[in-house]
Amino acid sequence: MATEHDTMTRTVLKVGGLNAWYGESHVLHGMDFDVGEGEVVTLLGRNGAGKTTTLKAIMGLMEKRSGSVEFGGVETISLPANRIGRLGIGYCPEERGIFSSLNVEENLLLPPVVRKDGLTTEEIFDLFPNLLERLHSQGTKLSGGEQQRVALARALAPGPRIMLMDEPFSGLDNRLRDEIRDTTLAVLKDSGTAVLLVTHEPDEAMRMADDIALMRDGKIVQQGAPYNIYNAPVDREAVAFFSDVNVIRGTVQGALTETPFGQFLAPAVPEGQEVEIVIRPQHLKIDFDRNGSGPLATVQDGTPARGVVVRARFMGNESLVEFRMDHDGSIIKATVPNVFLPKPGKPLWLTIRRDRCFVFPASG
Ligand code: ATP
Repeated sequence: MATEHDTMTRTVLKVGGLNAWYGESHVLHGMDFDVGEGEVVTLLGRNGAGKTTTLKAIMGLMEKRSGSVEFGGVETISLPANRIGRLGIGYCPEERGIFSSLNVEENLLLPPVVRKDGLTTEEIFDLFPNLLERLHSQGTKLSGGEQQRVALARALAPGPRIMLMDEPFSGLDNRLRDEIRDTTLAVLKDSGTAVLLVTHEPDEAMRMADDIALMRDGKIVQQGAPYNIYNAPVDREAVAFFSDVNVIRGTVQGALTETPFGQFLAPAVPEGQEVEIVIRPQHLKIDFDRNGSGPLATVQDGTPARGVVVRARFMGNESLVEFRMDHDGSIIKATVPNVFLPKPGKPLWLTIRRDRCFVFPASG
């Protein structure tokens, strides 16, 4: 049956209830996701979440797997890896597999890289014009960025319908990495290739992905567009994966939780349940009016709570200020645009943007 996803983009890879084991150890637990033509889906998670194992299970490289893995409608769960490899899958491993003793062209032409019906060398160089400059650089060591481009060009050469990429930008320095991410994304989008990209970096996922599958302990805990994952996180850990967080605890009474920052709505949380109000540093505000003679904070901002500056650091576009709160001695972090570097010991009042905080049942 055609799903909404199928009608928007043609599904290239469809994974359903995928499980995988290393020996007796059950590592993937019921993974479900699709990747459509021209779509970039990222598997995002901490080390050991099971991202690389997912790629291996898709390619048929796990000794034991179950569930369903369809490429272009072909079920592959019981096919051997060499048959799966012929279905139009490109793979960019984390190690890149580039040979420093070979020049760019030789690396690209390594069998079985350029296959029948794939791209010609000229077409590859059309995609990556700056590789040409390095073509005759025999003996010169390729830089990390060049290696990344060669590895990508090589994986794209056979004209795959889907690219599986494992941490493709690791080991590159920051500025180069941003540039290479953008070029790579442009090349992949132009070619209409479906992409499944593994990363442990939230910034990378936000920059590259149409859809993010957030993984933990061999499971997808949340999947959606970057905006939704960031703004409607499923739990405290999902918020904390993308940024620093502040956590304020309280107990629900009559669908409300009373805190030193005022009352917070806790709909659908049982009476008497302890909750965590999770707030990112950029959504705390320093109530300068309270500190001067102006009006108090608006209703939306709740009640101001007082803290004392512990430390303030300039971060470039903003300043990060840490406070020790008067009410319980906890540390709260707030970011303030531009330069704001109050001296340690200075008392200030803080409010919380209630529309930007998340309320979850307390963990642990
Ligand atoms: P990383 O970013 O560190 O590669 P990952 O999210 O890709 O992390 P995996 O490498 O897929 O995680 O590992 C998932 C789980 O499987 C981890 O608990 C890991 O220790 C285990 N694991 C990985 N490879 C093997 C192996 N060859 N044999 C046994 N267990 C393994």
